[in-house]
Amino acid sequence: MTPVDPLYIDALLPQTQCTRCGYAGCRPYAQALAEGQAELNQCPPGGAALIAELAALLSRPALPLNPANGSEAPPRLAWIDPEACIGCARCLPPCPVDAILGASRQLHSVVASWCTGCELCLPACPVDCIHLLPWPEAVATPSRADNRERYNAHEARRETRALQRAQQLADLKSSLS
Ligand code: SF4
Ligand code: SF4
Ligand code: SF4
Repeated sequence: MTPVDPLYIDALLPQTQCTRCGYAGCRPYAQALAEGQAELNQCPPGGAALIAELAALLSRPALPLNPANGSEAPPRLAWIDPEACIGCARCLPPCPVDAILGASRQLHSVVASWCTGCELCLPACPVDCIHLLPWPEAVATPSRADNRERYNAHEARRETRALQRAQQLADLKSSLS
């Protein structure tokens, strides 16, 4: 069988980075699929439509969605209760697409059209004021390409900040020596 480039597989994945497939994100799951190390029914956000696409691309039989990873569901988006938010900013780092706006000690809010409903921000909130709501009909859901672009930008910013922190630490150490 001809190997399939993981990039072609990744292009089909929803790009929520939710980790429900058991991998650290969509790209690692695509890599495992390309290497024949993963089943093609592990992604609840993609559901049956994705399984059909993967089966066609990989020339493998379709399988029912693995219920251990969750079930297929209509899209939802996060909403922050303004009466309860304490502005701690802990929800910002986990969001893979930077869909949460706010700064320390300020009310935070979600950019509705960017949210993928991945739920990664929920456990970060110490006052449980982030809730998932049904996706509003008036707002278009973000595309896979939109999600990937925002995730790549998020990762680039995270890596830049890490490099800056490492440089600041090195500068501090050298100033003390
Ligand atoms: S969207 Fe699918 S492939 Fe991507 S991390 Fe979530 S479960 Fe895994
Ligand atoms: S706001 Fe929360 S649910 Fe929406 S994309 Fe960001 S982390 Fe995921
Ligand atoms: S983690 Fe919760 S309380 Fe803290 S800023 Fe985010 S929504 Fe507000």
